[in-house]
Amino acid sequence: MMTTWMRMISVRLYLALVLLFGLASGAAADRPDPRSFDVWLGELRTEALSRGIRAATLDEAFKGLVPIGRVIELDRRQPEFTQTFRGYMASRITQARIEKGRALLDKHRSLLEKISSKYGVPPRFIVAFWGLETNYGSTFGSFSAIGALATLAHDPRRSDLFRKHLFSFLELVDKGDVPLEAKASWAGALGHFQFMPASYQYYAVDFDEDGKRDLWGSLPDAFASAANYLSRAGWDDTKTWGREVLLPETFDWNLTGPKGYKPLATWQTLGVRRLDGRDLPNVKIKGSILLPSGYKGPAFMVYENYRVIMRWNWSSFYAISVGHLADRLGGLGKLSDSHFQQETPLSHNDIVDLQRLLNAHGFHAGKPDGLLMSKTREAVRAFQRKALLPADGYVDMELLERLRGILLDR
Ligand code: CA
Repeated sequence: MMTTWMRMISVRLYLALVLLFGLASGAAADRPDPRSFDVWLGELRTEALSRGIRAATLDEAFKGLVPIGRVIELDRRQPEFTQTFRGYMASRITQARIEKGRALLDKHRSLLEKISSKYGVPPRFIVAFWGLETNYGSTFGSFSAIGALATLAHDPRRSDLFRKHLFSFLELVDKGDVPLEAKASWAGALGHFQFMPASYQYYAVDFDEDGKRDLWGSLPDAFASAANYLSRAGWDDTKTWGREVLLPETFDWNLTGPKGYKPLATWQTLGVRRLDGRDLPNVKIKGSILLPSGYKGPAFMVYENYRVIMRWNWSSFYAISVGHLADRLGGLGKLSDSHFQQETPLSHNDIVDLQRLLNAHGFHAGKPDGLLMSKTREAVRAFQRKALLPADGYVDMELLERLRGILLDR
């Protein structure tokens, strides 16, 4: 068994991190206290037993278990700079990833088509998720799954969510689907498609019928589980995810954003066209228009399947990257890179400053937390409308400077 060896590593890692980071940062309050962890673990054990998890499984799982300091550190980290759409796409949709994905699509075609006909998700989308989650199974994460999940369940920040995942994980181990020594990302995501344990429990399938739902060692199980998740989340096999579109110069930017859902015929009337200038498809579906780089960057028309991708990972950049990689795997072309401008990424402090300025100016951006979420974007749009700027909700250095300037003028 590898477990003893792994636990020794995690104990050592924890102690080393306490010395390295705990003392240096002085952030004692952020660090789990090993004693209270043991008390907490005792209570957790009682609840686990009441859920029907066997005592022998729990004994094995909790033996020598300690919080992993590095997991807390990664959970607390705040990136210094916000990510630009262009930077995000350039780092994820590489030529190597496209070529490898195409080769794997060919290699596993008959399996993928069998799964596709059962679950109604095209092979190119399954492979795109695979490429973006683990670079086609080449990086599963290096943390002890039980260690990472117990750390985050004990930590107060998101304890309810991770307590649920921890119980799911223990149930998966108890049933024999998952080995106790399974590796995970720091956040406890598992296997080829980085399923969180609760998703694993509800959506994983034993496609190769060997009696185990194995999302590491069995590609049939992993592919079918991803397809099952997407199918249950509402994937519509008769349509694609979306596409890049052209907008007329006189376009009303207020119509953009995920909530601006309209029939394609309405967008056609408003002057929206395909990238090559042709009319939009003459089908009775609705879409909304997204501007991930603001009105100066590319525009995307997204359909219902885009929302299904968002249910997998609540990030518009992620959802567009999955759709675009799937398109590239299927032989469709690049994004119109000519739209992109080199952007200066804004720092965390810039966003805090922006939020303070918006609030001071009567636009309600919420608590200045340095995060560009929907409330801040709406406040930006309100400011843009008042300042007679294109109201795309997009923040760049130019907008921040303008906001600073206006306040200086008062
Ligand atoms: Ca299996």
